[in-house]
Amino acid sequence: MIREIIWNKCKILHFSLGKYKIDGGVIFGLVPKVMWKKHFKVDENNYLELNLNTILIQCGKSNIIIDTGLGTKMDDRLRKILAVDSVQDILGQRLAELNLTPDDITHVIPTHLHFDHCGGNTKIQDDETVPCFPKAKYIFQKKEWDDAMSPDERTRGTYFQNNFTPIPPNMIKFIDGNETIADDQITLQYSGAHSCGHQMIRIKGTGSSDFIFTGDMFPLRTNINLPWVSATDLFPRDTLNFKRTFLKEALENQHVLALSHETEKEKICTVIKNDKGKYLARAY
Ligand SMILES: [Zn+2]
Repeated sequence: MIREIIWNKCKILHFSLGKYKIDGGVIFGLVPKVMWKKHFKVDENNYLELNLNTILIQCGKSNIIIDTGLGTKMDDRLRKILAVDSVQDILGQRLAELNLTPDDITHVIPTHLHFDHCGGNTKIQDDETVPCFPKAKYIFQKKEWDDAMSPDERTRGTYFQNNFTPIPPNMIKFIDGNETIADDQITLQYSGAHSCGHQMIRIKGTGSSDFIFTGDMFPLRTNINLPWVSATDLFPRDTLNFKRTFLKEALENQHVLALSHETEKEKICTVIKNDKGKYLARAY
C-alpha cells in the first residue's frame, strides 16, 4: 500500500519494499524478551517480521528515493537467513504503480549503507552489476562510504560492496554532515550512532513541524522509548544521546516520524510523553 502525504511544497509517498525477518534479540538489544514479547510476536525461531519502509519525495522536478530495500541481488544463503521467499523488484513495482520508471528518479539517498537499506541501488544486468537508476545522483555520507569500504569483523556481514561500488563516480555526490537539497526543502541530517555515517531525511513543514524519515535511528515504535536501543547500533551510547535531544525536539514541534522497519500503524507517528515521563509513538 502506498500512502500519500502532501507536506508543504513536497509530496511524500510512503511504502514498504517487502518484508524480512530478524532475530528478536538483535533488534531489541539489552531489552529482555520478557519485556519486548508484550509488544511483538515472533516465530518458532525467535524471528520477528519487519517491514522495509521507505519514502519517495516529489519536490519540484525531483523524484527522490530514500532507502532502496534488499534489491534483487540476494543469494540463496542470505535469502534463507532473512526468511525472504522470493527476490522481486518491489521498488520497480511501486514506481510503476505511481506511473514512474527508474529513469524518472533524480536522486537516491540511502540513510546508510547496510544491505537492507541500499540493496536496490544496483542490479545485475547481463552478468554485470549496474545502477538501478541510470539518471540519478546517488548521495552518500562520506563517513558511511569509508566505513563500508573497509568493514571489520563486526560490520562485514552488513555492508555488501556490490550495492554501491558499481555506481560510477560521476553519479555519486559525497557529503560530510548536514546538507540541504531541493531548494532547502529537504535536509539530510547526519546522526551517526547506528552506523558511522547514518543520516535522517527531514522535509520542511509549513510551521515548526517537519516530516522526518528516521532510518534505523528509530527502526520500531518501541525505539521511541529512550532505553530501547537496537543491538545493531555500532555506537549505542551515541544513539541514546541523540535520541534524548531529538525526542525532546520532536515532541515540542510535533514532528512526524517515519520509522524504518515498523509494520504497525505507528510506522508513521508523532511523539507523546506519558504521565511517567516516558516517550511513546502515536500513529499519525
Ligand atoms: Zn535496517
